[in-house]
Amino acid sequence: MSDPEFEEGRLFIGGQWREAAKGGRTDVIDPSTGQVAGTVAAADETDVDAAVTAAREAFDHGPWSTTSPRERSRVLNKIADLMRENAGELTRLESLDVGKPVALCGPVDVRTAIEHYEFYAGLAQTLDGATRATPMNAFAYTRREPVGVVAAITPFNFPLILSSTKLAPALAAGNTVVHKPADDTPLSALFMAKLFQAAGVPDGVVNVVTGTGPVAGEALLRHPGIDKVAFTGSTAVGRHAAAVAGEALKPVTMELGGNAAHIVFEDADVEKAIGAIIKGFVFNTGQFCMAGPRLLVARPLHDTIVGILAEAVPGVPVGDPRDPATVVGPMAADRHLKKVEEYVALARQEGGRVVCDGERLDLNGGYYYEPTVIAGLPDDSRAVREEIFGPVLTVQPFDSEDEAIALANGIRYGLAAGVQTGDVARAHRVAARLQAGIVWVNDWAMLDPAVPFGGVKDSGFGRESGPEALASYTRTKSVVVSLG
Ligand code: NAD
Repeated sequence: MSDPEFEEGRLFIGGQWREAAKGGRTDVIDPSTGQVAGTVAAADETDVDAAVTAAREAFDHGPWSTTSPRERSRVLNKIADLMRENAGELTRLESLDVGKPVALCGPVDVRTAIEHYEFYAGLAQTLDGATRATPMNAFAYTRREPVGVVAAITPFNFPLILSSTKLAPALAAGNTVVHKPADDTPLSALFMAKLFQAAGVPDGVVNVVTGTGPVAGEALLRHPGIDKVAFTGSTAVGRHAAAVAGEALKPVTMELGGNAAHIVFEDADVEKAIGAIIKGFVFNTGQFCMAGPRLLVARPLHDTIVGILAEAVPGVPVGDPRDPATVVGPMAADRHLKKVEEYVALARQEGGRVVCDGERLDLNGGYYYEPTVIAGLPDDSRAVREEIFGPVLTVQPFDSEDEAIALANGIRYGLAAGVQTGDVARAHRVAARLQAGIVWVNDWAMLDPAVPFGGVKDSGFGRESGPEALASYTRTKSVVVSLG
Protein backbone atom coordinates (compact mmCIF):
# COMPACT_ATOMS: atom_id res chain seq x y z
CA MET A 1 0.00 0.00 0.00
CA SER A 2 2.07 2.90 -1.26
CA ASP A 3 1.11 6.41 -0.22
CA PRO A 4 3.43 9.41 -0.46
CA GLU A 5 1.89 11.20 2.54
CA PHE A 6 2.24 8.16 4.78
CA GLU A 7 5.74 7.64 3.46
CA GLU A 8 6.53 11.25 4.31
CA GLY A 9 5.53 10.56 7.92
CA ARG A 10 2.85 13.19 8.34
CA LEU A 11 0.36 13.53 11.17
CA PHE A 12 -3.07 11.95 10.66
CA ILE A 13 -5.72 14.37 11.91
CA GLY A 14 -9.42 14.43 11.02
CA GLY A 15 -8.83 11.98 8.16
CA GLN A 16 -6.15 14.21 6.58
CA TRP A 17 -2.38 13.80 6.42
CA ARG A 18 -0.66 17.02 7.45
CA GLU A 19 2.73 18.37 8.40
CA ALA A 20 3.23 19.61 11.95
CA ALA A 21 2.02 23.21 12.19
CA LYS A 22 5.54 24.47 12.90
CA GLY A 23 7.13 22.02 10.47
CA GLY A 24 8.93 19.97 13.15
CA ARG A 25 10.43 16.61 12.11
CA THR A 26 12.15 13.87 14.07
CA ASP A 27 14.45 11.05 12.88
CA VAL A 28 13.49 7.40 12.88
CA ILE A 29 16.58 5.22 13.45
CA ASP A 30 17.07 1.66 12.24
CA PRO A 31 18.47 0.03 15.42
CA SER A 32 20.15 -2.75 13.44
CA THR A 33 22.53 -0.21 11.85
CA GLY A 34 22.19 2.98 13.89
CA GLN A 35 21.40 4.80 10.62
CA VAL A 36 18.52 7.21 9.99
CA ALA A 37 15.76 5.27 8.22
CA GLY A 38 13.44 8.25 7.70
CA THR A 39 11.76 11.13 9.49
CA VAL A 40 8.28 11.78 10.84
CA ALA A 41 6.44 14.92 11.89
CA ALA A 42 7.00 16.14 15.45
CA ALA A 43 3.68 17.46 16.76
CA ASP A 44 3.41 20.28 19.27
CA GLU A 45 0.50 21.76 21.26
CA THR A 46 -1.14 23.22 18.13
CA ASP A 47 -1.20 19.86 16.36
CA VAL A 48 -2.41 18.04 19.45
CA ASP A 49 -5.19 20.59 19.83
CA ALA A 50 -6.22 20.00 16.20
CA ALA A 51 -6.25 16.23 16.79
CA VAL A 52 -8.31 16.43 19.98
CA THR A 53 -10.71 18.88 18.30
CA ALA A 54 -11.18 16.44 15.40
CA ALA A 55 -11.75 13.54 17.82
CA ARG A 56 -14.15 15.63 19.93
CA GLU A 57 -16.13 16.66 16.85
CA ALA A 58 -16.31 13.04 15.66
CA PHE A 59 -17.44 11.85 19.07
CA ASP A 60 -20.00 14.58 19.73
CA HIS A 61 -21.60 14.43 16.30
CA GLY A 62 -21.24 10.78 15.39
CA PRO A 63 -21.88 8.63 13.54
CA TRP A 64 -19.23 6.33 15.10
CA SER A 65 -20.26 6.94 18.71
CA THR A 66 -23.95 6.44 17.99
CA THR A 67 -23.80 3.70 15.38
CA SER A 68 -24.83 0.17 16.33
CA PRO A 69 -22.21 -2.09 17.92
CA ARG A 70 -22.87 -4.52 15.08
CA GLU A 71 -21.80 -1.93 12.49
CA ARG A 72 -18.67 -1.14 14.51
CA SER A 73 -17.99 -4.86 14.71
CA ARG A 74 -18.14 -5.09 10.90
CA VAL A 75 -15.55 -2.29 10.57
CA LEU A 76 -13.24 -3.86 13.18
CA ASN A 77 -13.32 -7.13 11.26
CA LYS A 78 -12.49 -5.22 8.08
CA ILE A 79 -9.49 -3.66 9.87
CA ALA A 80 -8.31 -7.16 10.84
CA ASP A 81 -8.74 -8.35 7.22
CA LEU A 82 -6.71 -5.42 5.89
CA MET A 83 -4.00 -6.07 8.49
CA ARG A 84 -3.80 -9.67 7.33
CA GLU A 85 -3.51 -8.54 3.69
CA ASN A 86 -0.76 -6.11 4.71
CA ALA A 87 0.96 -8.35 7.26
CA GLY A 88 4.22 -8.31 5.29
CA GLU A 89 4.43 -4.51 5.33
CA LEU A 90 3.41 -4.30 9.00
CA THR A 91 6.14 -6.80 9.83
CA ARG A 92 8.71 -4.86 7.80
CA LEU A 93 7.87 -1.54 9.46
CA GLU A 94 7.75 -2.93 13.01
CA SER A 95 11.05 -4.75 12.50
CA LEU A 96 12.72 -1.67 10.97
CA ASP A 97 11.50 0.56 13.79
CA VAL A 98 12.12 -1.66 16.84
CA GLY A 99 14.72 -4.16 15.57
CA LYS A 100 12.36 -7.10 16.04
CA PRO A 101 13.40 -10.31 14.27
CA VAL A 102 11.09 -10.82 11.29
CA ALA A 103 10.75 -14.51 12.19
CA LEU A 104 8.93 -13.53 15.42
CA CYS A 105 7.42 -10.16 14.53
CA GLY A 106 4.89 -11.54 12.03
CA PRO A 107 3.73 -14.57 14.04
CA VAL A 108 3.73 -12.69 17.37
CA ASP A 109 3.30 -8.91 17.03
CA VAL A 110 1.26 -8.70 13.84
CA ARG A 111 -0.85 -11.77 14.60
CA THR A 112 -1.61 -10.66 18.18
CA ALA A 113 -2.65 -7.20 17.01
CA ILE A 114 -4.96 -8.67 14.34
CA GLU A 115 -6.50 -10.98 16.92
CA HIS A 116 -7.29 -8.03 19.19
CA TYR A 117 -9.38 -6.39 16.44
CA GLU A 118 -11.15 -9.69 15.78
CA PHE A 119 -11.74 -10.36 19.46
CA TYR A 120 -13.28 -6.93 20.11
CA ALA A 121 -15.26 -7.14 16.86
CA GLY A 122 -16.98 -10.12 18.49
CA LEU A 123 -17.22 -8.59 21.94
CA ALA A 124 -18.69 -5.33 20.60
CA GLN A 125 -21.87 -7.24 19.91
CA THR A 126 -22.21 -8.19 23.57
CA LEU A 127 -22.44 -4.54 24.66
CA ASP A 128 -25.81 -4.20 26.33
CA GLY A 129 -27.44 -2.98 29.51
CA ALA A 130 -29.51 -4.62 32.22
CA THR A 131 -32.90 -4.12 33.75
CA ARG A 132 -32.94 -3.72 37.52
CA ALA A 133 -35.79 -4.86 39.75
CA THR A 134 -36.59 -2.18 42.35
CA PRO A 135 -39.45 -1.50 44.77
CA MET A 136 -40.04 1.83 42.98
CA ASN A 137 -42.99 2.21 40.68
CA ALA A 138 -40.54 2.58 37.85
CA PHE A 139 -38.78 0.79 35.04
CA ALA A 140 -35.03 0.97 35.72
CA TYR A 141 -32.35 -0.05 33.25
CA THR A 142 -28.68 0.60 32.49
CA ARG A 143 -26.98 1.62 29.26
CA ARG A 144 -23.28 1.15 28.53
CA GLU A 145 -22.05 4.23 26.73
CA PRO A 146 -18.63 5.12 25.33
CA VAL A 147 -16.44 7.30 27.53
CA GLY A 148 -15.66 9.88 24.82
CA VAL A 149 -12.28 10.99 23.47
CA VAL A 150 -9.48 8.63 24.52
CA ALA A 151 -5.82 9.66 24.69
CA ALA A 152 -3.86 6.49 23.85
CA ILE A 153 -0.18 6.86 24.75
CA THR A 154 2.01 3.87 23.91
CA PRO A 155 5.65 2.80 24.54
CA PHE A 156 8.45 1.87 22.14
CA ASN A 157 8.67 -1.86 22.66
CA PHE A 158 5.44 -3.33 21.20
CA PRO A 159 4.02 -0.49 19.09
CA LEU A 160 1.49 -2.55 17.15
CA ILE A 161 0.28 -4.85 19.93
CA LEU A 162 -0.02 -2.14 22.56
CA SER A 163 -1.89 0.21 20.24
CA SER A 164 -4.31 -2.63 19.37
CA THR A 165 -4.93 -3.43 23.05
CA LYS A 166 -6.19 0.16 23.41
CA LEU A 167 -7.69 1.06 20.05
CA ALA A 168 -9.61 -2.19 19.45
CA PRO A 169 -11.72 -2.04 22.67
CA ALA A 170 -11.94 1.77 22.57
CA LEU A 171 -13.33 1.70 19.02
CA ALA A 172 -15.58 -1.30 19.73
CA ALA A 173 -17.23 0.70 22.51
CA GLY A 174 -17.79 3.75 20.24
CA ASN A 175 -15.05 6.08 21.49
CA THR A 176 -12.84 8.28 19.35
CA VAL A 177 -9.07 8.26 19.84
CA VAL A 178 -5.96 10.40 19.65
CA HIS A 179 -2.97 8.04 19.52
CA LYS A 180 0.50 9.26 20.52
CA PRO A 181 2.95 6.47 19.67
CA ALA A 182 6.43 6.36 21.23
CA ASP A 183 8.89 9.03 20.08
CA ASP A 184 11.18 6.61 18.28
CA THR A 185 8.84 3.83 17.04
CA PRO A 186 5.90 5.56 15.30
CA LEU A 187 5.83 3.82 11.89
CA SER A 188 3.23 1.09 12.40
CA ALA A 189 0.80 3.60 14.01
CA LEU A 190 0.93 5.72 10.86
CA PHE A 191 0.45 2.70 8.63
CA MET A 192 -2.52 1.60 10.76
CA ALA A 193 -4.11 5.02 10.18
CA LYS A 194 -4.20 4.20 6.48
CA LEU A 195 -5.84 0.85 7.20
CA PHE A 196 -8.44 2.44 9.51
CA GLN A 197 -9.42 4.83 6.74
CA ALA A 198 -9.55 2.06 4.14
CA ALA A 199 -11.73 -0.05 6.48
CA GLY A 200 -14.31 2.74 6.72
CA VAL A 201 -13.48 4.27 10.11
CA PRO A 202 -14.97 7.78 9.76
CA ASP A 203 -12.68 10.83 9.70
CA GLY A 204 -11.68 12.09 13.14
CA VAL A 205 -12.41 8.79 14.91
CA VAL A 206 -8.70 7.84 14.98
CA ASN A 207 -6.01 10.53 14.91
CA VAL A 208 -2.27 9.86 15.12
CA VAL A 209 0.14 12.48 16.44
CA THR A 210 3.80 11.56 16.35
CA GLY A 211 6.28 13.51 18.44
CA THR A 212 8.07 13.57 21.75
CA GLY A 213 6.61 12.69 25.14
CA PRO A 214 7.41 15.97 26.88
CA VAL A 215 5.82 18.04 24.06
CA ALA A 216 3.15 16.05 22.19
CA GLY A 217 2.45 13.57 25.02
CA GLU A 218 2.23 16.25 27.69
CA ALA A 219 -0.07 18.43 25.54
CA LEU A 220 -2.37 15.46 24.98
CA LEU A 221 -2.39 14.52 28.64
CA ARG A 222 -3.36 18.05 29.66
CA HIS A 223 -5.88 18.76 26.92
CA PRO A 224 -9.32 19.52 28.40
CA GLY A 225 -11.03 17.80 25.46
CA ILE A 226 -9.77 14.36 26.56
CA ASP A 227 -12.17 12.12 28.52
CA LYS A 228 -9.88 9.19 29.35
CA VAL A 229 -6.16 8.45 29.38
CA ALA A 230 -4.98 4.97 28.39
CA PHE A 231 -1.24 4.94 29.12
CA THR A 232 1.41 2.27 28.71
CA GLY A 233 5.01 3.10 29.56
CA SER A 234 7.47 3.50 32.37
CA THR A 235 6.45 3.82 36.01
CA ALA A 236 8.07 7.27 36.27
CA VAL A 237 6.12 8.77 33.36
CA GLY A 238 2.98 6.85 34.34
CA ARG A 239 3.10 8.32 37.83
CA HIS A 240 3.24 11.80 36.31
CA ALA A 241 0.45 11.01 33.79
CA ALA A 242 -1.80 9.60 36.53
CA ALA A 243 -1.24 12.72 38.64
CA VAL A 244 -2.13 15.07 35.76
CA ALA A 245 -5.22 13.02 34.86
CA GLY A 246 -6.19 12.76 38.53
CA GLU A 247 -6.10 16.52 38.95
CA ALA A 248 -8.52 16.81 36.02
CA LEU A 249 -10.62 13.88 37.35
CA LYS A 250 -10.10 11.88 34.15
CA PRO A 251 -10.28 8.07 34.32
CA VAL A 252 -6.98 6.38 33.53
CA THR A 253 -5.54 2.96 32.87
CA MET A 254 -1.87 2.64 33.73
CA GLU A 255 0.18 -0.22 32.26
CA LEU A 256 3.62 0.40 33.74
CA GLY A 257 7.00 -1.21 34.32
CA GLY A 258 7.72 -4.73 35.53
CA ASN A 259 10.50 -6.95 36.85
CA ALA A 260 8.91 -10.35 37.16
CA ALA A 261 10.13 -13.25 39.25
CA HIS A 262 10.30 -16.68 37.62
CA ILE A 263 10.29 -19.35 40.35
CA VAL A 264 11.66 -22.84 39.69
CA PHE A 265 10.77 -25.38 42.38
CA GLU A 266 12.76 -28.56 42.89
CA ASP A 267 9.90 -30.64 41.41
CA ALA A 268 9.97 -28.75 38.08
CA ASP A 269 10.51 -30.36 34.68
CA VAL A 270 14.00 -28.88 34.17
CA GLU A 271 14.07 -29.19 30.38
CA LYS A 272 10.73 -27.39 29.98
CA ALA A 273 11.72 -24.82 32.59
CA ILE A 274 14.93 -23.93 30.73
CA GLY A 275 12.97 -23.19 27.54
CA ALA A 276 10.56 -20.93 29.45
CA ILE A 277 13.39 -19.20 31.35
CA ILE A 278 15.30 -18.35 28.16
CA LYS A 279 12.17 -17.21 26.32
CA GLY A 280 11.22 -15.17 29.39
CA PHE A 281 14.32 -12.99 29.30
CA VAL A 282 15.51 -12.88 25.67
CA PHE A 283 12.15 -12.35 23.92
CA ASN A 284 12.08 -8.88 22.29
CA THR A 285 15.72 -8.51 23.45
CA GLY A 286 14.41 -8.34 27.02
CA GLN A 287 12.49 -5.14 26.23
CA PHE A 288 9.31 -6.72 27.49
CA CYS A 289 7.36 -5.39 30.44
CA MET A 290 6.32 -8.97 31.20
CA ALA A 291 9.81 -10.43 30.89
CA GLY A 292 11.01 -12.76 33.63
CA PRO A 293 14.50 -11.39 34.41
CA ARG A 294 14.55 -12.43 38.11
CA LEU A 295 15.09 -16.18 38.26
CA LEU A 296 14.55 -17.77 41.68
CA VAL A 297 15.68 -21.41 41.88
CA ALA A 298 15.25 -23.97 44.67
CA ARG A 299 18.73 -24.38 46.17
CA PRO A 300 19.16 -28.10 45.23
CA LEU A 301 18.62 -27.18 41.55
CA HIS A 302 20.42 -23.80 41.54
CA ASP A 303 23.88 -24.86 40.32
CA THR A 304 22.44 -27.30 37.77
CA ILE A 305 20.20 -24.62 36.25
CA VAL A 306 23.01 -22.03 36.20
CA GLY A 307 25.27 -24.59 34.48
CA ILE A 308 22.67 -25.42 31.82
CA LEU A 309 22.02 -21.71 31.17
CA ALA A 310 25.76 -21.04 30.82
CA GLU A 311 25.85 -23.66 28.04
CA ALA A 312 22.54 -22.90 26.34
CA VAL A 313 22.22 -19.09 26.36
CA PRO A 314 25.29 -18.37 24.16
CA GLY A 315 23.66 -20.59 21.51
CA VAL A 316 20.64 -18.29 21.10
CA PRO A 317 21.01 -16.71 17.64
CA VAL A 318 21.63 -12.95 17.96
CA GLY A 319 21.87 -10.86 14.82
CA ASP A 320 20.30 -8.97 11.96
CA PRO A 321 16.53 -8.87 12.54
CA ARG A 322 15.95 -9.42 8.81
CA ASP A 323 17.73 -12.79 8.94
CA PRO A 324 14.99 -15.43 9.44
CA ALA A 325 17.32 -17.41 11.75
CA THR A 326 17.63 -14.51 14.23
CA VAL A 327 15.91 -14.89 17.60
CA VAL A 328 17.40 -11.85 19.37
CA GLY A 329 17.72 -8.57 17.46
CA PRO A 330 19.26 -5.26 18.55
CA MET A 331 18.01 -3.10 21.38
CA ALA A 332 15.54 -0.54 20.00
CA ALA A 333 17.72 2.50 20.70
CA ASP A 334 21.23 3.48 21.70
CA ARG A 335 20.04 4.75 25.09
CA HIS A 336 18.51 1.36 25.94
CA LEU A 337 21.81 -0.37 25.09
CA LYS A 338 23.74 2.07 27.31
CA LYS A 339 21.32 1.44 30.18
CA VAL A 340 21.93 -2.32 29.94
CA GLU A 341 25.70 -1.78 29.91
CA GLU A 342 25.42 0.39 33.03
CA TYR A 343 23.35 -2.21 34.87
CA VAL A 344 25.72 -5.07 34.02
CA ALA A 345 28.65 -2.95 35.26
CA LEU A 346 26.66 -2.20 38.42
CA ALA A 347 25.86 -5.90 38.91
CA ARG A 348 29.60 -6.70 38.77
CA GLN A 349 30.25 -4.02 41.43
CA GLU A 350 27.43 -5.46 43.56
CA GLY A 351 29.17 -8.85 43.65
CA GLY A 352 27.44 -10.54 40.72
CA ARG A 353 29.19 -13.33 38.80
CA VAL A 354 28.59 -13.03 35.05
CA VAL A 355 27.95 -16.61 34.00
CA CYS A 356 27.72 -15.90 30.29
CA ASP A 357 28.45 -12.92 28.11
CA GLY A 358 27.90 -9.47 29.59
CA GLU A 359 29.12 -7.59 26.51
CA ARG A 360 27.69 -5.63 23.63
CA LEU A 361 28.01 -7.24 20.20
CA ASP A 362 29.75 -5.22 17.51
CA LEU A 363 27.64 -5.80 14.38
CA ASN A 364 26.83 -3.40 11.51
CA GLY A 365 26.80 -0.38 13.86
CA GLY A 366 23.60 -1.70 15.49
CA TYR A 367 22.61 -1.70 19.18
CA TYR A 368 23.27 -5.36 20.01
CA TYR A 369 23.77 -6.90 23.44
CA GLU A 370 24.36 -10.61 23.98
CA PRO A 371 21.94 -12.36 26.37
CA THR A 372 23.59 -12.31 29.78
CA VAL A 373 23.14 -14.40 32.94
CA ILE A 374 24.34 -13.13 36.34
CA ALA A 375 24.45 -15.27 39.51
CA GLY A 376 25.47 -14.51 43.09
CA LEU A 377 23.78 -11.15 43.55
CA PRO A 378 22.37 -10.28 46.98
CA ASP A 379 18.65 -9.61 47.09
CA ASP A 380 19.10 -5.94 47.89
CA SER A 381 21.19 -5.27 44.79
CA ARG A 382 19.79 -2.73 42.34
CA ALA A 383 20.47 -5.07 39.41
CA VAL A 384 17.96 -7.48 40.97
CA ARG A 385 15.35 -4.99 42.13
CA GLU A 386 15.19 -2.48 39.25
CA GLU A 387 13.86 -2.83 35.70
CA ILE A 388 16.91 -3.28 33.42
CA PHE A 389 14.75 -3.79 30.30
CA GLY A 390 17.32 -5.75 28.33
CA PRO A 391 18.42 -9.39 27.80
CA VAL A 392 19.81 -9.83 31.33
CA LEU A 393 18.82 -12.60 33.77
CA THR A 394 19.75 -12.63 37.46
CA VAL A 395 19.64 -15.95 39.34
CA GLN A 396 19.13 -16.38 43.11
CA PRO A 397 18.61 -19.50 45.24
CA PHE A 398 15.81 -20.02 47.80
CA ASP A 399 15.24 -22.57 50.56
CA SER A 400 11.47 -22.75 50.99
CA GLU A 401 8.19 -21.96 49.27
CA ASP A 402 7.61 -19.08 51.68
CA GLU A 403 11.03 -17.62 50.93
CA ALA A 404 10.45 -17.87 47.17
CA ILE A 405 7.17 -15.98 47.50
CA ALA A 406 8.73 -13.36 49.78
CA LEU A 407 11.57 -12.78 47.28
CA ALA A 408 9.13 -12.63 44.34
CA ASN A 409 6.84 -10.14 46.09
CA GLY A 410 9.66 -8.18 47.70
CA ILE A 411 9.98 -5.43 45.10
CA ARG A 412 7.73 -2.54 44.06
CA TYR A 413 6.74 -4.02 40.69
CA GLY A 414 3.87 -6.49 40.24
CA LEU A 415 3.12 -7.11 36.58
CA ALA A 416 3.79 -10.78 35.86
CA ALA A 417 5.23 -13.84 37.62
CA GLY A 418 5.99 -17.44 36.72
CA VAL A 419 6.08 -20.78 38.50
CA GLN A 420 7.76 -23.99 37.34
CA THR A 421 6.51 -26.99 39.29
CA GLY A 422 5.20 -30.51 38.79
CA ASP A 423 2.91 -30.18 41.81
CA VAL A 424 -0.57 -28.97 40.79
CA ALA A 425 -1.58 -27.99 44.31
CA ARG A 426 1.60 -25.94 44.73
CA ALA A 427 1.00 -24.22 41.36
CA HIS A 428 -2.41 -22.90 42.45
CA ARG A 429 -1.29 -22.16 46.01
CA VAL A 430 1.71 -20.10 44.91
CA ALA A 431 -0.17 -18.38 42.04
CA ALA A 432 -2.74 -17.13 44.55
CA ARG A 433 -0.03 -15.61 46.79
CA LEU A 434 2.01 -13.86 44.08
CA GLN A 435 1.48 -10.10 43.80
CA ALA A 436 1.13 -9.84 40.02
CA GLY A 437 -1.53 -9.17 37.40
CA ILE A 438 -0.78 -12.44 35.57
CA VAL A 439 0.91 -15.69 36.65
CA TRP A 440 2.16 -18.31 34.21
CA VAL A 441 2.62 -21.90 35.29
CA ASN A 442 5.14 -24.10 33.44
CA ASP A 443 5.65 -21.67 30.55
CA TRP A 444 6.14 -17.96 29.98
CA ALA A 445 4.40 -15.16 28.04
CA MET A 446 1.23 -17.04 27.17
CA LEU A 447 -0.92 -14.08 26.17
CA ASP A 448 -4.23 -13.85 24.31
CA PRO A 449 -6.79 -11.10 23.64
CA ALA A 450 -9.26 -12.99 25.86
CA VAL A 451 -6.92 -12.99 28.88
CA PRO A 452 -6.70 -9.71 30.83
CA PHE A 453 -3.31 -8.39 31.82
CA GLY A 454 -2.13 -5.46 33.88
CA GLY A 455 -0.30 -4.65 37.06
CA VAL A 456 -0.45 -4.14 40.80
CA LYS A 457 1.74 -1.84 42.93
CA ASP A 458 4.18 0.21 40.79
CA SER A 459 3.19 -1.75 37.68
CA GLY A 460 -0.06 0.23 37.48
CA PHE A 461 -3.78 -0.44 37.53
CA GLY A 462 -6.56 -1.27 35.14
CA ARG A 463 -6.57 -4.23 32.75
CA GLU A 464 -6.01 -4.57 29.03
CA SER A 465 -7.43 -7.42 26.90
CA GLY A 466 -10.47 -9.48 27.82
CA PRO A 467 -13.97 -8.16 28.51
CA GLU A 468 -12.38 -6.11 31.33
CA ALA A 469 -10.73 -3.78 28.78
CA LEU A 470 -13.98 -3.25 26.87
CA ALA A 471 -15.74 -2.37 30.13
CA SER A 472 -13.04 0.21 30.90
CA TYR A 473 -13.91 2.09 27.70
CA THR A 474 -17.61 2.37 28.66
CA ARG A 475 -19.61 4.18 31.30
CA THR A 476 -22.79 2.94 32.84
CA LYS A 477 -25.80 5.23 32.68
CA SER A 478 -28.93 4.37 34.65
CA VAL A 479 -32.34 5.35 33.29
CA VAL A 480 -35.33 5.26 35.62
CA VAL A 481 -38.75 5.74 33.99
CA SER A 482 -41.64 6.51 36.31
CA LEU A 483 -44.60 4.22 35.79
CA GLY A 484 -46.86 6.48 37.85
P1 NAD B 1 8.12 5.91 28.51
O1 NAD B 1 7.38 6.06 29.79
O2 NAD B 1 9.40 6.60 28.33
O3 NAD B 1 7.19 6.41 27.28
C1 NAD B 1 5.88 5.88 27.09
C2 NAD B 1 5.07 6.88 26.30
O4 NAD B 1 4.87 8.04 27.10
C3 NAD B 1 5.76 7.36 25.00
O5 NAD B 1 4.80 7.52 24.00
C4 NAD B 1 6.32 8.71 25.43
O6 NAD B 1 6.50 9.60 24.35
C5 NAD B 1 5.21 9.19 26.35
N1 NAD B 1 5.61 10.26 27.29
C6 NAD B 1 6.84 10.52 27.79
N2 NAD B 1 6.79 11.62 28.59
C7 NAD B 1 5.49 12.03 28.59
C8 NAD B 1 4.80 13.09 29.23
N3 NAD B 1 5.43 13.97 29.99
N4 NAD B 1 3.47 13.20 29.03
C9 NAD B 1 2.81 12.31 28.25
N5 NAD B 1 3.42 11.30 27.59
C10 NAD B 1 4.75 11.15 27.77
O7 NAD B 1 8.26 4.33 28.27
P2 NAD B 1 9.07 3.58 27.13
O8 NAD B 1 10.53 3.69 27.39
O9 NAD B 1 8.56 3.93 25.77
O10 NAD B 1 8.59 2.06 27.39
C11 NAD B 1 9.21 1.20 28.30
C12 NAD B 1 8.45 1.13 29.59
O11 NAD B 1 7.11 0.76 29.34
C13 NAD B 1 9.01 0.05 30.51
O12 NAD B 1 9.01 0.53 31.82
C14 NAD B 1 8.01 -1.08 30.35
O13 NAD B 1 7.96 -1.96 31.45
C15 NAD B 1 6.74 -0.33 30.17
N6 NAD B 1 5.74 -1.17 29.50
C16 NAD B 1 4.68 -1.60 30.22
C17 NAD B 1 3.74 -2.44 29.62
C18 NAD B 1 2.55 -2.97 30.37
O14 NAD B 1 1.67 -3.54 29.76
N7 NAD B 1 2.50 -2.80 31.69
C19 NAD B 1 3.90 -2.80 28.29
C20 NAD B 1 5.01 -2.33 27.59
C21 NAD B 1 5.94 -1.51 28.20
